[in-house]
Amino acid sequence: MDRMKLVLLLSGGIDSPVAGYLMGRQRAEIIALSGFVSSGNEEAHVRKMTALAGKIAVSIGHEVSLHVYDQSLALDCFRDGMRPNLTCVLCKRAMLRMAEKLCKMTDSSAIITGDSLGQVASQTLRNIAVIENAVATPILRPLIGLDKMDIVRIARNIGTYGTSIASGAPSCEFVPKHPATRSLIEEVLEEEMRVGIEGIMDEMASTLRVIEHERFNE
Ligand code: ATP
Ligand code: MG
Repeated sequence: MDRMKLVLLLSGGIDSPVAGYLMGRQRAEIIALSGFVSSGNEEAHVRKMTALAGKIAVSIGHEVSLHVYDQSLALDCFRDGMRPNLTCVLCKRAMLRMAEKLCKMTDSSAIITGDSLGQVASQTLRNIAVIENAVATPILRPLIGLDKMDIVRIARNIGTYGTSIASGAPSCEFVPKHPATRSLIEEVLEEEMRVGIEGIMDEMASTLRVIEHERFNE
């Protein structure tokens, strides 16, 4: 039987590699996707994500592919926009949109994220609802009810913890001083219309590339 394919939104934090592991051990094929910031350290980002993808592959016992894209364009537009407090929500929506594009390209059926409730400013239930409304593809959040200690324990067990906490890839360099915790969908849609989100997504999709990394031998 063919494995179910899932696109994993992989960041430099502790959580998303654990989320990838939890779904991968269910035998899902994991296609990792990570957004970098070109003004930041792209090379270090790719190196860190490659290491994480490799460790997830070892822990689940099968291959994990890695794709990266430049997300600076969305970050810049939203950061300089009318509502800087919505930057996190808008960036997360853009990430989901890119993941949905990759799902279509790879015939994958869902997106995995490392969201766990209440961990950071953008992860209130209301914000999660506004964020997920950007896409029609199902979103899997295997960590949603775990607390940080549980997640760290798993990360240590699978060997991703050390790589995650090492510097190299901040997920959002432009975290606003007062991130919205009660974002309104109307405001979000207005802002996306103002910047022309579809065009931005197409432009960012043109930066998408596969990273060849050492193959995992089953
Ligand atoms: P993590 O949640 O993996 O510890 P984080 O805390 O830096 O990383 P959050 O702000 O919690 O990231 O983002 C929630 C989720 O969004 C992440 O778990 C991950 O699935 C996704 N994500 C965040 N940043 C990126 C990125 N740069 N590229 C791809 N996916 C990302
Ligand atoms: Mg997180």
